[in-house]
Amino acid sequence: MKAVEFVAGEPFRARVASRTRAGRRHFVDLQAMEWNGVCDCEDFQCNRVKAIKRKGLRKTATRCWHILAARNAWFDEFGPLLAFILDTDRNGKQLRLWVKAARLCVRLHSPLQRTAMGKDEA
Ligand SMILES: [Zn+2]
Repeated sequence: MKAVEFVAGEPFRARVASRTRAGRRHFVDLQAMEWNGVCDCEDFQCNRVKAIKRKGLRKTATRCWHILAARNAWFDEFGPLLAFILDTDRNGKQLRLWVKAARLCVRLHSPLQRTAMGKDEA
């Protein structure tokens, strides 16, 4: 069994093996808290949440070992898929489609843009 196992169909959620307790796994959600990630371990719940309040999100100090391990494994797992998509993109038309799709995704997920789009339609 791998130290980090991604939840089937949920590429940003993983179960990460405990380093100190054999057989125990911690649940990590990499997307939560604006991509800082959250974990159900004691270190995250006690220390990292305090660090978030002091330092803000997405710092090394705001992520427990399990979140960092899941982020590292994520790149190994999904990096090749992204590389495949980008390689496909180098061939021309496909690139423009992916860039357009990415821009549309960003636009649809931005509250400011959503408001602007709503005003345009009204
Ligand atoms: Zn943790």
